[in-house]
Amino acid sequence: MKRTLISALAMTAAVAANAQGLPELQTGSDWFQAGETTIQELIAREQNTGRAKNVILMIADGNGVGTNYATRLYVGQQMGKLGEEHVLPYETTDYHSALVKTYNINAQTPDSAPTAGAMNTGVKQRFNLINLGGDAIHDDCSTVAGNELTTFAEMVAADGKSVGIVSTARLTHATPAAVYSKTANRNWEDEVPEGCTAQKDIAAQMIDAMKSGLIDLAVGGGARYFVPKDSPTANGGAGHRPDGLDLVAEAKDAGIQFASNKAEFDALSMDAPVLGLWTDSHTSYEADRPDSEPSLTDMTRTAIEFLSQNEDGFYLEIEAGRVDHANHAGNFARTAADGMIWTEAVALADEMTNDEDTLIIVTADHEHAIAFNGYCGRGTPIQGLCFGISKTGDKHSNELNLADDGKPYSVISYANGSGTILREDMDYSGQRPDVTQEEAMDVDYLQQALIPMSSETHSGEDVAVYAKGPWAHLFDGTIEQNVVFHVMNHAVNAE
Ligand SMILES: [Zn+2]
Repeated sequence: MKRTLISALAMTAAVAANAQGLPELQTGSDWFQAGETTIQELIAREQNTGRAKNVILMIADGNGVGTNYATRLYVGQQMGKLGEEHVLPYETTDYHSALVKTYNINAQTPDSAPTAGAMNTGVKQRFNLINLGGDAIHDDCSTVAGNELTTFAEMVAADGKSVGIVSTARLTHATPAAVYSKTANRNWEDEVPEGCTAQKDIAAQMIDAMKSGLIDLAVGGGARYFVPKDSPTANGGAGHRPDGLDLVAEAKDAGIQFASNKAEFDALSMDAPVLGLWTDSHTSYEADRPDSEPSLTDMTRTAIEFLSQNEDGFYLEIEAGRVDHANHAGNFARTAADGMIWTEAVALADEMTNDEDTLIIVTADHEHAIAFNGYCGRGTPIQGLCFGISKTGDKHSNELNLADDGKPYSVISYANGSGTILREDMDYSGQRPDVTQEEAMDVDYLQQALIPMSSETHSGEDVAVYAKGPWAHLFDGTIEQNVVFHVMNHAVNAE
């Protein structure tokens, strides 16, 4: 919801008072006027020091400052704008913001398990582990006991709040798992090594958390890890669990409602916990999603409606997991489509809640090895090739810029990945392929990359955090990622 709007009258007065003597072409410029408006909005910002009843932690996986920049341009361009000037829902002056350092205890480049774990427990963690202290060792079950950290979900559930998880990834994948799981290996999604008794696999931990009442709603992908090997899933695939347990049946027996598609999801009652598994693995990319599969905004809407029934409030983590996966594929068109619906989910969550009592945090867990080539003119399609700069007007020249090899190049490059120009079938000669703008605009186009890697990597670059609601103003400057937890914890306990 919008805070108080500044009156147009007050802004005009401020411009007049501060801009005496400047030429009209300056003070009358739209840029000048808009700049003054921003200042007035910032001056009018109030600090909310109330107690947060609800906390919504929204993580677009892999949506660092660079990916977010590209999403901004894409969304603006889809709306018919040049794109650069577009403002995403969380980029208004209603939101406070900070830069976030995402490294792990032992990794310059982080993975999504310890980063989400840091946000959910208040301490940085080790690469590929979830919610275990710094003495735990990756892949070593014997180091689990005694190293378990308490999660924000466990803390607020003890205070009577409801807890929900929404993800477009598998619900057992790193970011959603960090809400409820403690594991020495993020990949132990449906089995642990033989003889490991200190922990269960992540799917089993999730169903335990639902049965114990810790988690009230969990919707996303990953059905195969809840169903026995060789048994069919409700989504038409095959189960994967080697232990033969049917965790979906267990959940149903415990009174948890189950849905496997949008029609079933829409038909659920609001009276019992909800488990929704739309796909066997991750949900579809937004660019490919069939109507039978709930979208990120569908899940966000129902989750907030459901959790809002609790008068003591809720904690909801929402992950746009496939932003990350499309970046790994080096396929920016799909990153952008998932990024776009992510921004819509943020706007929806904001609309459905009250700034007075709901802390909304919008962030990413890490960035990717994404980079932007210059010098492209305004309005160059961000997923396509780089057009030149026009000497007059705003818009690009409509002529492709050429590199020193005489070939055009994509605006976005990845430093590594499967779009590499060092192709094996060319003896890694580095001869860049010829490409037309039409080919580059195809949804399957892979942006040009340098170092050959089957899956493009994360990077250790900072991400941004944006927030509104109680104590959102604590997000300021450059912070460590675990501070996100401390703001949430402060906000829900404020006197
Ligand atoms: Zn990733």
